[in-house]
Amino acid sequence: MTKPNTPVTLESWLNNSGLPRLEARMLLQHVLVISHSHIIAHGTQLLSNSELASLNQLCQRRLAGEPLAYLLGWREFYGRCFQVSEAVLIPRPETEHLVDAVLAHLPAQGTLWDLGTGSGAIAVTIACERPDAQIWAADISEEALAVAQANASVLQAQVRFGQGSWYQAQPQPAPHSVDVIVSNPPYIDAQDPHLQQGDLRFEPQQALTDNHNGLSAFKTIIAGAKDFLRPDGWLLFEHGYDQGEAVRNMLSQYKFRKIQTLADLAGLDRVTLG
Ligand code: GLN
Repeated sequence: MTKPNTPVTLESWLNNSGLPRLEARMLLQHVLVISHSHIIAHGTQLLSNSELASLNQLCQRRLAGEPLAYLLGWREFYGRCFQVSEAVLIPRPETEHLVDAVLAHLPAQGTLWDLGTGSGAIAVTIACERPDAQIWAADISEEALAVAQANASVLQAQVRFGQGSWYQAQPQPAPHSVDVIVSNPPYIDAQDPHLQQGDLRFEPQQALTDNHNGLSAFKTIIAGAKDFLRPDGWLLFEHGYDQGEAVRNMLSQYKFRKIQTLADLAGLDRVTLG
């Protein structure tokens, strides 16, 4: 942290912020609206007092644990820049596996529903990758939907949105007409101490936990899916690394077939489909 009123260059602020260099650089680029190459070429440029004050304030918030994505207002997901706010979960690299699995199961001109869309990371990414698809995305939170809509608009993604819990706000499709239903629901057990730690402390609890044992959202979504999915349609979830078996059991209880769990790059079970 550098005191105001002493001349500070870009380079010296980076070296003394107390943050990992990459994070310090991203804050610097954000506040000054400059590129990485500008910093390299003009490292001796002086910071104004107001730039320094803004940087120090963001630096303090980061040192207190606020996620970088909330300070910057964006996070990259599947190669695209997604706006985020405290109203939405920060998109995770794990969720990119779920997107890959959806892309592999969505037929041409298929219909996709994304339940609990949050920032819209899943629905908007699929819409960008597959402009032929009919995509509908829902969230219970009005604030989250505003973020998802902004992302769809900036990324020119054709997604229809509805506000409501899971199927509550569903558009009126013919029964059994949806090809793929996807969800990354709140799946953390309400007793899990991680909810009080790290980035999770700052994220919307509603997006993280079902206030129960972490499995109730899967159950509700699975129970409802049969009314909407085509007989050969797919339901795909992201879940906790230790929830694969529980999710597979619920899917088979509701007579889903071809149930399988996919591991992420770390070898952990994170996606189950049927
Ligand atoms: N669908 C969003 C995501 O995958 C939000 C998920 C959530 O809030 N649980 O990032």
